[in-house]
Amino acid sequence: MIVNPRVKGFICTTAHPAGCRANVDEQIRFIREQAPIANAPKRVLVIGASTGYGLASRITAAFGCNARTIGVFFEKPASRNRTASAGWYNSAAFQCAADNAGLYAKSINGDAFSDAVKEKTIEMIKADLGQIDLLVYSLASPRRLHPVTGTLHSSVLKPIGKTVTQIGLDTDRELIKSFTLQPAVQQEIDDTVVVMGADDWERWVHQLSEAGVLAPGCKTTVYTYIGEKVTRDIYWDGTIGAAKKDLDRAAAMLSSNGVEASVSVLKAVVTQSSAAIPVMPLYLALLFKLMKQDGSHEGCIEQIYRLFSECLYNTDPRLDEGGRNRVDDRETRHEIQAEVEKLWPQVTTENLNSISDFQGFRAEFLKLFGFGLTEIDYETDFDVDVKINGLLDLTQ
Ligand code: NAD
Repeated sequence: MIVNPRVKGFICTTAHPAGCRANVDEQIRFIREQAPIANAPKRVLVIGASTGYGLASRITAAFGCNARTIGVFFEKPASRNRTASAGWYNSAAFQCAADNAGLYAKSINGDAFSDAVKEKTIEMIKADLGQIDLLVYSLASPRRLHPVTGTLHSSVLKPIGKTVTQIGLDTDRELIKSFTLQPAVQQEIDDTVVVMGADDWERWVHQLSEAGVLAPGCKTTVYTYIGEKVTRDIYWDGTIGAAKKDLDRAAAMLSSNGVEASVSVLKAVVTQSSAAIPVMPLYLALLFKLMKQDGSHEGCIEQIYRLFSECLYNTDPRLDEGGRNRVDDRETRHEIQAEVEKLWPQVTTENLNSISDFQGFRAEFLKLFGFGLTEIDYETDFDVDVKINGLLDLTQ
């Protein structure tokens, strides 16, 4: 099939197998070029392992720590005239690279919120790894079917307690326009916390612990974003922020019960999830311009390498007052944020491409789906029906 991007808003409904593979290979190359990570974990479970920060975590564990990895994700294979999802192709490429390097890797495709996926993961750990040394929880989902109540909860991206009017970017039409978000009602806040808060992370930790598959000293970390003034109303002070604050609560609770649990604060990057947050595309376009200008621009893989080497496996980790690992330090520097705040009210449709790096944002968005890479000939026919070796597919 000749595969072209089909984009609508923050969704691209096609993905390119060779482009996704090139992206994965590029991240692996980056990790191989870095200094080895001391005290590295050797058996790692990543929940949400197929795209974005979870994929970068799996690559860092495998190729930076020589760890055996199990990855859990929710992705779609190709069917009739449709390509597979990008995360499917990424996982196939990761598996190939791990196989070629003689590194154990297995994956489970299914709903990580379910007890069935947890049980199968535990079986796999017992059979193949015995125990794990690190659990990374990097799931991002718009909804969750609760395994106990059977209720389907949907998350929303809304402010809390006030109506917010802000400028934003219509990425399809390259238009700057103002948008207004009404405050969430309590049910929407609660649902967002059920989906993106700590409950499922805690369920994973408890079930893994009860099954005896957490090795002594096993660490677990969950990813969060805090951000600064420009994103605050919609992010940290909004419904998603309420869910993220729940992670802080859970990390403290798990730690008090003897689990080495931490929240890791990562910078804003382009992923399938962040592109959906109303304020993010414009914020990222401005941020990229500034961080590229001063040479501090980072993507998922650079962030996760620093998280492992500077925080999780550093004897002197950089923690904030809440005990969180911080690798958003370059993004939150005063000079960067002051400049974003200064530029924000000046952006118009006309000056978007000069004042911000919107083209950089767009290129990174397309790259998530394997498009826009110079080494790929997009006129060539590619087989889109790619298999993931050794996959346990619980969606069938
Ligand atoms: P992403 O959309 O790239 O990845 C989400 C992952 O979750 C994928 O592997 C997907 O398959 C998996 N997933 C979704 N629903 C699932 C389900 N029901 N069962 C199993 N797997 C499922 O997202 P991301 O941006 O990498 O986000 C990962 C974490 O990092 C989130 O907690 C997010 O809040 C956090 N974070 C993101 C940013 C950012 O800018 N993107 C910044 C800081 C923190």
